[in-house]
Amino acid sequence: MIDLKQEEKVGSLSVFSSLSEHGHEQLVYCYDEYTGLKAIIGIHNTVLGPSLGGTRMWDYKSEEEALMDVLRLSRGMTFKASISGLNLGGGKAVIIGDAQKLKSEALLRRFGRFVESLKGKYITAEDVNMSPEDMEYISMETKYVTGLSEKMGGAGDPSPFTAYGVYMGMKACAKEAYGNDSLENRKVAVQGVGHVGHYLVKHLIEEGANVLVSDIYEDKIKEITKEFKVTVVDEDSIYTEKTDIYAPCALGAAVNDKTIDSLQCDIIAGAANNQLEDEHKHGNILLNKGIIYAPDFMINAGGLINVGLDYLGNYSRDRVFKKVERIYNTVLDIIHKSREEKTSSQEAAINIASQRILDVGKVKAHL
Ligand code: NAD
Repeated sequence: MIDLKQEEKVGSLSVFSSLSEHGHEQLVYCYDEYTGLKAIIGIHNTVLGPSLGGTRMWDYKSEEEALMDVLRLSRGMTFKASISGLNLGGGKAVIIGDAQKLKSEALLRRFGRFVESLKGKYITAEDVNMSPEDMEYISMETKYVTGLSEKMGGAGDPSPFTAYGVYMGMKACAKEAYGNDSLENRKVAVQGVGHVGHYLVKHLIEEGANVLVSDIYEDKIKEITKEFKVTVVDEDSIYTEKTDIYAPCALGAAVNDKTIDSLQCDIIAGAANNQLEDEHKHGNILLNKGIIYAPDFMINAGGLINVGLDYLGNYSRDRVFKKVERIYNTVLDIIHKSREEKTSSQEAAINIASQRILDVGKVKAHL
């Protein structure tokens, strides 16, 4: 393990200036010649508690791209944990390489040993290109793993909790926009009907919403139309449809320079991470357009709440659902703060999350 001891350049990027730019605490570079492991663990902030965040494996074009990803994602986890009232910090890990070619039991177990060596400062979980079986290998070498499959005695699939949180956040936005939180007869466009999108559609249909869906995979469309009465729209027209609510539940950066002018909705509330391509710029455009935006890291925190409570102990699905339900009130607080301070909701949410870290940090400074 190489803990960065001196200023090191990754491409044209200075690692220490990247750390200081977003207030990160530590980066851990993990390398193992025998298994081909190259990984970076990013620990953003541990004031509230140990840093928690998934491990993703991705065939990054460069080490610089991997570094940027781990820095961005670990920072997001700090805010997500803080605003959700969890006593956890923000962390994330990336394993560099093609998961199809490079992933092996040995590589995953070697990675697990790096996680173990941090003695609980970083707790890992499943993320992109990691399966429950992969997490089992990692957990053979470290106890600092959460969100394991139910078969392994863990909390299992986080998607139902994430979807429930998005649904709660959506209702809070409706209350602000329309004076009541009913979604009956509201036109809601769900972009991406994968794990989370599917559960979200179920909640919406049960409440009597008029649901539009899009997905790039025909199988997903077949699955959802077989189960629910929804209208299918194509990949591009999801942005231009006149709707009450747009729910991005596919990839990040769906709100960008190309799409933002086409959006004809009152509310954006979905599960995808990093929905705003440029947090500051697009957050402000939405504010000026009068579109209520439920900050992604807050509204999609149900999955983190599930793994967080699993790790912190005393887990029950009922407790998780109760905590996820609080997303409703938090979204209302954020919208009010955004109105009062004339800042975007994204900025308001980051301010609330940062304030909690500051306050708890001061409390912890006393014996
Ligand atoms: P998923 O891969 O199961 O589903 C995503 C779906 O989006 C897939 O069906 C995919 O075909 C579709 N899709 C991809 N590009 C599309 C496009 N351009 N237009 C329409 N559909 C498209 O993923 P998921 O677990 O449902 O997560 C959805 C999003 O929510 C992701 O951004 C994820 O990072 C985020 N998220 C998920 C969780 C969770 O608990 N699963 C928690 C927090 C955040």
